Amino acid sequence: MNVLVTGGAGFIGSHLVDRLLADGHHVTVIDNCVTGRPENVAQHADRPGFTFLRGSVLNETLVAAVCREVDLVFHLAAAVGVTHIVKDPLWAIVTNTRGTEIVLKRAFENRVRVVFASSSEIYGQSDAVPFDEDGPRVLGPTTIHRWAYSTSKALDEHLCWAYADKGLAVSAVRYFNIFGPRMDPAGYGSVIARFVTQALAGEPLTVHGDGRQSRCFTYVSEAVTATILAGTHDGALHEAFNIGHPQEHTIEHLAERVIALTDSPSTVTRVPYAEVYGPSFADTRRRVPDVTKAAERLGFRAHVTLDEGLAAVIAERAAAAERAR
Ligand code: UDP
Repeated sequence: MNVLVTGGAGFIGSHLVDRLLADGHHVTVIDNCVTGRPENVAQHADRPGFTFLRGSVLNETLVAAVCREVDLVFHLAAAVGVTHIVKDPLWAIVTNTRGTEIVLKRAFENRVRVVFASSSEIYGQSDAVPFDEDGPRVLGPTTIHRWAYSTSKALDEHLCWAYADKGLAVSAVRYFNIFGPRMDPAGYGSVIARFVTQALAGEPLTVHGDGRQSRCFTYVSEAVTATILAGTHDGALHEAFNIGHPQEHTIEHLAERVIALTDSPSTVTRVPYAEVYGPSFADTRRRVPDVTKAAERLGFRAHVTLDEGLAAVIAERAAAAERAR
């Protein structure tokens, strides 16, 4: 197939590109490289069947031209990472909603199937754990910028279903804290990236709040598998899927595992949320996927454990540090 991956130079996108090329597909990437990094796909630069277009999904002419040439679109380009969203909500809202509408519209015109990369952030502060796809979404007030991300991804899903009503073949995958090699070492959108960087530098690990908030960390190769299933499986059409590992870990526990696995002298320091995100911030206390639907409809289940995934991230960072020496 000819496949478009928007956001294909990003963390998850670039792993998806690797897999699609390895499976023999032709891949075009559109990425503006704001959070994506060209080096994530540089290994494919001279490969026949790979095209890298540095540009934005807000460039409708570009998106329209590529959509005429492809059979399938994975739409991952988005403003991501709570820190970024809180810093520049306007950019996040416009990129995520206008960008998605452009991609869906042009895919629809060309009768191209779409997988939309949504987020577990959709569920907000719901306490209906584990979150099932049809469960409630509980968000705080609109004056809290954090919720702009959740709202933008939810509006994008509404756009998906609105286009589905018109005949677009579309599915959504809701990622739960995906991690693995190529996460931004600065830690945008990932506590794991930050903790590993801090542990390897021997610096204190900055645990926000009481550290009892929990997440289900999901290894990137498994997110890629699920994403491709969502784009190819008949049972996936017009549905949203939780893509996550069912095992829940507190952030406190994560910090302990990172320190142990890096054999680091680092300690843990607690940082109030307000110090990091400003006074009006609300965190999600527990975020756990109900994985039944992905298992039943896609035949997908995540298996890679936190320790196994952390080992891969730590090995990548150690190799990078060695090269820099
Ligand atoms: N977090 C933390 N220390 C950090 C970065 C993040 O304790 O240096 C916490 C953050 O407050 C949240 C959790 O780790 O409770 C996961 O944060 P992340 O930004 O990875 O993703 P989120 O699940 O919030 O989208």
